[in-house]
Amino acid sequence: MAERFSDDDAAIRAALEQAHTPSLLASLIHFTGNADHLAGFKPPVADLTVFGDEQQGIPIDQQERARALAAEHLTRWRDAGCPDLPRPPADAVRAAMNYVAGIEIPPAYEEFLTQELHLDGLPQPTRVTIDASPEVKAEWPVVIIGAGMSGLLAGVALKQAGLPFTIVEARDKVGGTWWANRYPGARVDTPNHLYSYSFEPAHEWPYRYSTAPVLQDYFERIVEKYGLREHIRFDTRVDCSTWNGAAWRVRLHDGEILTAKAVIAAVGQLNRPKLPDLPGVASFAGPAFHSALWRDDVDLKGKRVAIIGTGASAFQIVPEIVGQVASLTVFQRTPPWLLPQPVYHDAVAPGKQWLLRHAPFYSNWYRFALFWSLTEFLLPAVSKEDGWDTPGSLSPMNAELRGFLEASLGEQFADRPDLLAKAIPPYAPGGKRMLVDNGVWAAALKQDNVELVTDPVAAIEPAGVRLASGRLVEADVLIYATGFHASEFLMPMTVTGERGRDLHSEWGEDARAYLGMTVPGFPNFFCIYGPNTNIVVNGSIVFFSEASVNYILGCLKLLVEGGATSLSPRQDVHDAFNRRVDAANARMAWGAPDVSSWYKSKSGRVSQNWPFALVDYWNATRVPDPAEFELR
Ligand code: NAP
Repeated sequence: MAERFSDDDAAIRAALEQAHTPSLLASLIHFTGNADHLAGFKPPVADLTVFGDEQQGIPIDQQERARALAAEHLTRWRDAGCPDLPRPPADAVRAAMNYVAGIEIPPAYEEFLTQELHLDGLPQPTRVTIDASPEVKAEWPVVIIGAGMSGLLAGVALKQAGLPFTIVEARDKVGGTWWANRYPGARVDTPNHLYSYSFEPAHEWPYRYSTAPVLQDYFERIVEKYGLREHIRFDTRVDCSTWNGAAWRVRLHDGEILTAKAVIAAVGQLNRPKLPDLPGVASFAGPAFHSALWRDDVDLKGKRVAIIGTGASAFQIVPEIVGQVASLTVFQRTPPWLLPQPVYHDAVAPGKQWLLRHAPFYSNWYRFALFWSLTEFLLPAVSKEDGWDTPGSLSPMNAELRGFLEASLGEQFADRPDLLAKAIPPYAPGGKRMLVDNGVWAAALKQDNVELVTDPVAAIEPAGVRLASGRLVEADVLIYATGFHASEFLMPMTVTGERGRDLHSEWGEDARAYLGMTVPGFPNFFCIYGPNTNIVVNGSIVFFSEASVNYILGCLKLLVEGGATSLSPRQDVHDAFNRRVDAANARMAWGAPDVSSWYKSKSGRVSQNWPFALVDYWNATRVPDPAEFELR
């Protein structure tokens, strides 16, 4: 898997300076066939105390020793002509996994994590093969709605499986959210070496957390590499999809009908901008726009700018624009919790890129380290413990997390007690999306030209923002960083299933699906990133989409190979699943009744989030169980 190299010893040693030591040490088992060397090294620390410490508490002398050992192996391997390396025995792999995780990995995770390591080479886009003749497959056209991260993934998988498909995309480019959100500072907040398809790791990521244009580029490259462009209908909107008993009739905005045996809705959750419910919201005299509808034609230089909201979007915009504007007023209703990550904006050093590309299995172990650190590390810290009744926290672990986050805020605002008082959220950590923070937010708020306003906003007026206190904050430009209509899934499409059932009428305010993907009465209709598949503190959404696509392909396999026409989940299976989800979400920080967020529908039900472990989704989506479906 690693690309052969002929770099000299000095270049190898220079690259090793950038190594993540736990991953490096784990990768050495591929040279030695055992994990004996790990006994000589302190395991990485895997708790809150090392947040932001890339070397996870491994002492400097041990880091140096690890690099020296790796240099020996790498130069020897180079001199031998970079031969293929045998797969190490399972006990060595297990020992290395435990070492990198810093704990004994629970047995329930072992198979899942071993597979995620991809030691036999990069995985295929889908594990599913559909055994049918080209003629049979030709009778199974699929329409995918959306050419973002999930829709493209579905296209790549369908292409591999040999089913015909069309991707319908409302915009003029692929990339979904990364194309839509072009505000200054837009970047991913999951490490990129994890926020990438497993089969396309892109060792050359320029940043640890890349910017929107870099991600956009990645998805454009995927389109070219996998030959998707000819399948995509750009600038095309789906108005409605109707099941006619044997197929879906997908009506496009211009009236054209596409016929499909299955529909995959990959439209995302965060794409319909939401303006605040305030009097006069459209009355502002100057330019006023939503963060996701950024106006490049509006020059902010020297302007008095007002921004409403302090969620993930505002958090990225404010530090970017603060230097150009005359004044910036930030209207905060609820402060966000900030998760310290000093390297958030850092470039990936060339040495690191070299290791990812050339050091055998280093990239696998690095991805594994990221995966594990985000997998279930924080999940227990954001769930409720019965009997715990300290306001602002849910459990001893949650209180510990709060203490850690408060201390970080305390340090950042030590010189500004006025801001510190406004910066500490009242709700328990995890109630809303935690924002990955390297200090630029606090630095921006401290600027002389910035005011953080916490008095409630009462109305928008032509001249500015009227507060409940009566004060008018005058502005030249108004930015709404006020989020999205996230819980109104698949709007504004109409989806009509068996016997004329309307999906949105059935859902009412609460979208539900089985495993986020299928709905009773809507045969062969699949969602990716559907209800209850969003994750708050664990994992990468790309992982979820990959699991969903495998499952959907598994459903199509059942249909195509089994000669059936339609598949939809049994009502009882769907209902039981949703009861489990609701009960579990009620125990999570984001389910607390005193927290409002885009994770909840208007009724207060958590309609977005997956409350369980990643391994649970992986297990649930490995292979569809025919007994859970009505197959006709
Ligand atoms: P959001 O998290 O829903 O935040 C909206 C903000 O607007 C909140 O601070 C909200 O306050 C405020 N607001 C809404 N109505 C208001 C009103 N009438 N008066 C005052 N304040 C009001 O939206 P977002 O920031 O666009 O982020 C949405 C999600 O997109 C994120 O959670 C994340 O999942 C994703 N995202 C990710 C990234 C990334 O990965 N880097 C970047 C941007 C967005 P309350 O909290 O009080 O409601």
